[in-house]
Amino acid sequence: MTDVPDFPALRANAFRDAWCGQVLADRVDQTVRVAGWVHRRRDHGGLIFIDLRDRTGLVQLVFNPDAAGAAQELGHRLRAEDVISVSGEVVRRSAETVNAELPTGEVELRVAEAELLADAETPPFEIEGYSGEVGEELRLRYRYLDLRRERMRDALTLRHRVTAAIREFLDGEGFLDIETPVLTRSTPEGARDFLVPSRQQQGSFYALPQSPQLFKQLLMVAGLERYYQIARCFRDEDLRADRQLDFTQLDLEMSFVGVDDVIELNERLLASVLGSMGVEFELPLKRIPYDEAIARWGSDKPDLRYGLELADLTDRLRETGFNAFRGVIDAGGSVKGLNAGAREMSRADLDGLVEEAKELGAKGLVWAVVEADGWRSPVAKFLSEDELAAINGDLEASEGDVLLIAADHGNVAATVLGGLRTRLAARYGLIPEGVNELAWIVDWPLFEWSEEEGRWDALHHPFTSPAGPLDPDDPGSARALAYDVTWNGVELGGGSVRISDPEVQRAVFTALGISPEDAEARFGFLLEAFRYGAPPHGGIAYGLDRMVALLHGTDSIRDVIAFPKAASGGDPLTGAPAPVDEQQLRELGIALRAAKRPG
Ligand code: ASP
Repeated sequence: MTDVPDFPALRANAFRDAWCGQVLADRVDQTVRVAGWVHRRRDHGGLIFIDLRDRTGLVQLVFNPDAAGAAQELGHRLRAEDVISVSGEVVRRSAETVNAELPTGEVELRVAEAELLADAETPPFEIEGYSGEVGEELRLRYRYLDLRRERMRDALTLRHRVTAAIREFLDGEGFLDIETPVLTRSTPEGARDFLVPSRQQQGSFYALPQSPQLFKQLLMVAGLERYYQIARCFRDEDLRADRQLDFTQLDLEMSFVGVDDVIELNERLLASVLGSMGVEFELPLKRIPYDEAIARWGSDKPDLRYGLELADLTDRLRETGFNAFRGVIDAGGSVKGLNAGAREMSRADLDGLVEEAKELGAKGLVWAVVEADGWRSPVAKFLSEDELAAINGDLEASEGDVLLIAADHGNVAATVLGGLRTRLAARYGLIPEGVNELAWIVDWPLFEWSEEEGRWDALHHPFTSPAGPLDPDDPGSARALAYDVTWNGVELGGGSVRISDPEVQRAVFTALGISPEDAEARFGFLLEAFRYGAPPHGGIAYGLDRMVALLHGTDSIRDVIAFPKAASGGDPLTGAPAPVDEQQLRELGIALRAAKRPG
C-alpha cells in the first residue's frame, strides 16, 4: 500500500514513539524512535542503509560512522528480519535519493541509538518483494513469515475492512450479532460432516456445523427478529482453490419477511460494503430466473460481463436425420449451440475443445467453422441445408465464426457450453476490465434429481419454502423461494424464505424421501420449535472468504485466510491433522483399526 496509513498516534514507550509509515517530511528535525523488522539492508562500507518495516510500512534508517559506538557496531551485524528499536533524527533526503514509491521516501532516520530486540534466523524465503515462485506448501509451513509480506498484510487488512463495514451496516439495520455452537448436530447443507467424538458419552459424536442454518431459524422462533454472524462453517469436502474445510460465512436471518424484503436489504448491504471498497453498481440488481440463466448462459451463476449467449436448437432439429442429435431429442434432451465468434482455431484447438467439453461432462461436442459455401465440420454432411441455415440463423453466424453444439439430457448441453463459454471468454480476452455485474438468480427449482442416489435432493436445503403448492407427482416442477446473488460469474451468497408451516415441511420431507421418523430424529428440535409460534422468516449466507478474495483480486481464497489448509487438507504449519495419544483415544472409547493407523 502506498497510502500513508491512517494509524492513531502511538503512546511512546521504551520501544517506539512513532509508526514506521508515519515518519514523513513533517517530522524533519524531530527525534523519533521506531521499532520493527529489518526489511532490507545495504552496507556501503561506511554507511549502512536499512529499510525498517512495521505494519504501517517502511522507513529508511541510516547508520553513519559518525554516530559511532554501539549503534554502528549493531548496524554491521544486523541481518534480514532481525527485530530492532532505533531512535534518531529525521532528516530530509537529498533530491537524488528521494524514493517517490514510498510515503516516507522523502526522509530518512539518522540512527543515534539502536537496540537489538530479537535475532532472526535466515528465513526460508525472502520476505522483501513478493516472489510468486515460493511454493504454497512452504509459504503455509512458514505462514507467519509469509504474512509479513505486504500483499498478505493488505489481504488481511482488506478482510478486516470488509467485516467492519458489514458489522457497521447490519448494526445500523437492527441486526444482532449472535454466536451459535460449533459443537452441535448435523446440519442440513448436504456435505459430509466433521465429527467430534464425545468423551462423556462414548459412541456419540458432535458434528461441526456446515452452517448455522438451524440455529438461526431457532433464533427467529425465539423472537430475535434480525440475526447475523460472521460464522465459521465446516464441510468435509475435497479442496479446490475456492474451498476450505473450515470457511467463513456472513450469515443472516430476518423475521416477517418475503423474498423482496430480504433482497432489498441485501442489495443495500452489498452496495454499502462493496461500495466502501470502490466497487460500484446500480440498484436494484437484475433478477434472472434460474431457467433463463441456464438457457442463456449455461450457468446458475452466469458471468454477465460479456455476450456469447447460448441458443436452443432443439426445435430446429426435431426432425433431423442426424442420429446423434435426434436420439437425444427423442429421449427428451436438448441441443444447444454457442457462437464462439470468429477465432483463429486450428484443428488441434477444435479437438481440444471437444476434450474440454468431455471434461465438463458432455458425451461429445460438435464444432463447425462457418465458411462462404457452408460448414467445415465433421458433421456437416449429416445435416440438411435447411438445418444448417436454421442453426446459422439462430446463432447469428457469419463467415469465420466457430460454432459449438452439444446435445445431451437435462441441462447438460447447456452447462457444458456454459463452461466452455467462460473458458473461451478468459482465453480470448473477452472480459472487460473494471465492469461489475451483480445479479440475483431467482425462481430456483426446489428439488434436483440425484442420479447417484436415485432420488430427489433439496437444491438449497430442506427448509427452503416452495413457491406454491407441491405436486407430489411432479417434484421437479416445484419452484423455491430461493435466491443467489452472483458477481461477475461467481456465487457470492444464497438463501431463501423458509418453511414455517409444519404441513408444508412434512410435504417437502416426503418428497425428499425423509420419513417422519427420520425427520424427527434429525431435525425434531426445529420441528418442535415451529409448534410454538414460528414467524415467517428468511435469510441468506455469503461466502466471506470468496467475497474478500474477489475484492483482493485473487482466485484463491487461501490468499485471504490467515491460516488456511493446503490443497491436501492438511496444515503444513501445525501438522494438523495429526495422530493422537493412545490415552486420548482410550478416553474417547475409540480403537483404530490397525490398518488405518497413521505412521
Ligand atoms: N445455510 C445456507 C447455506 O449455507 C444459507 C441460507 O439458506 O441462509 O448455504
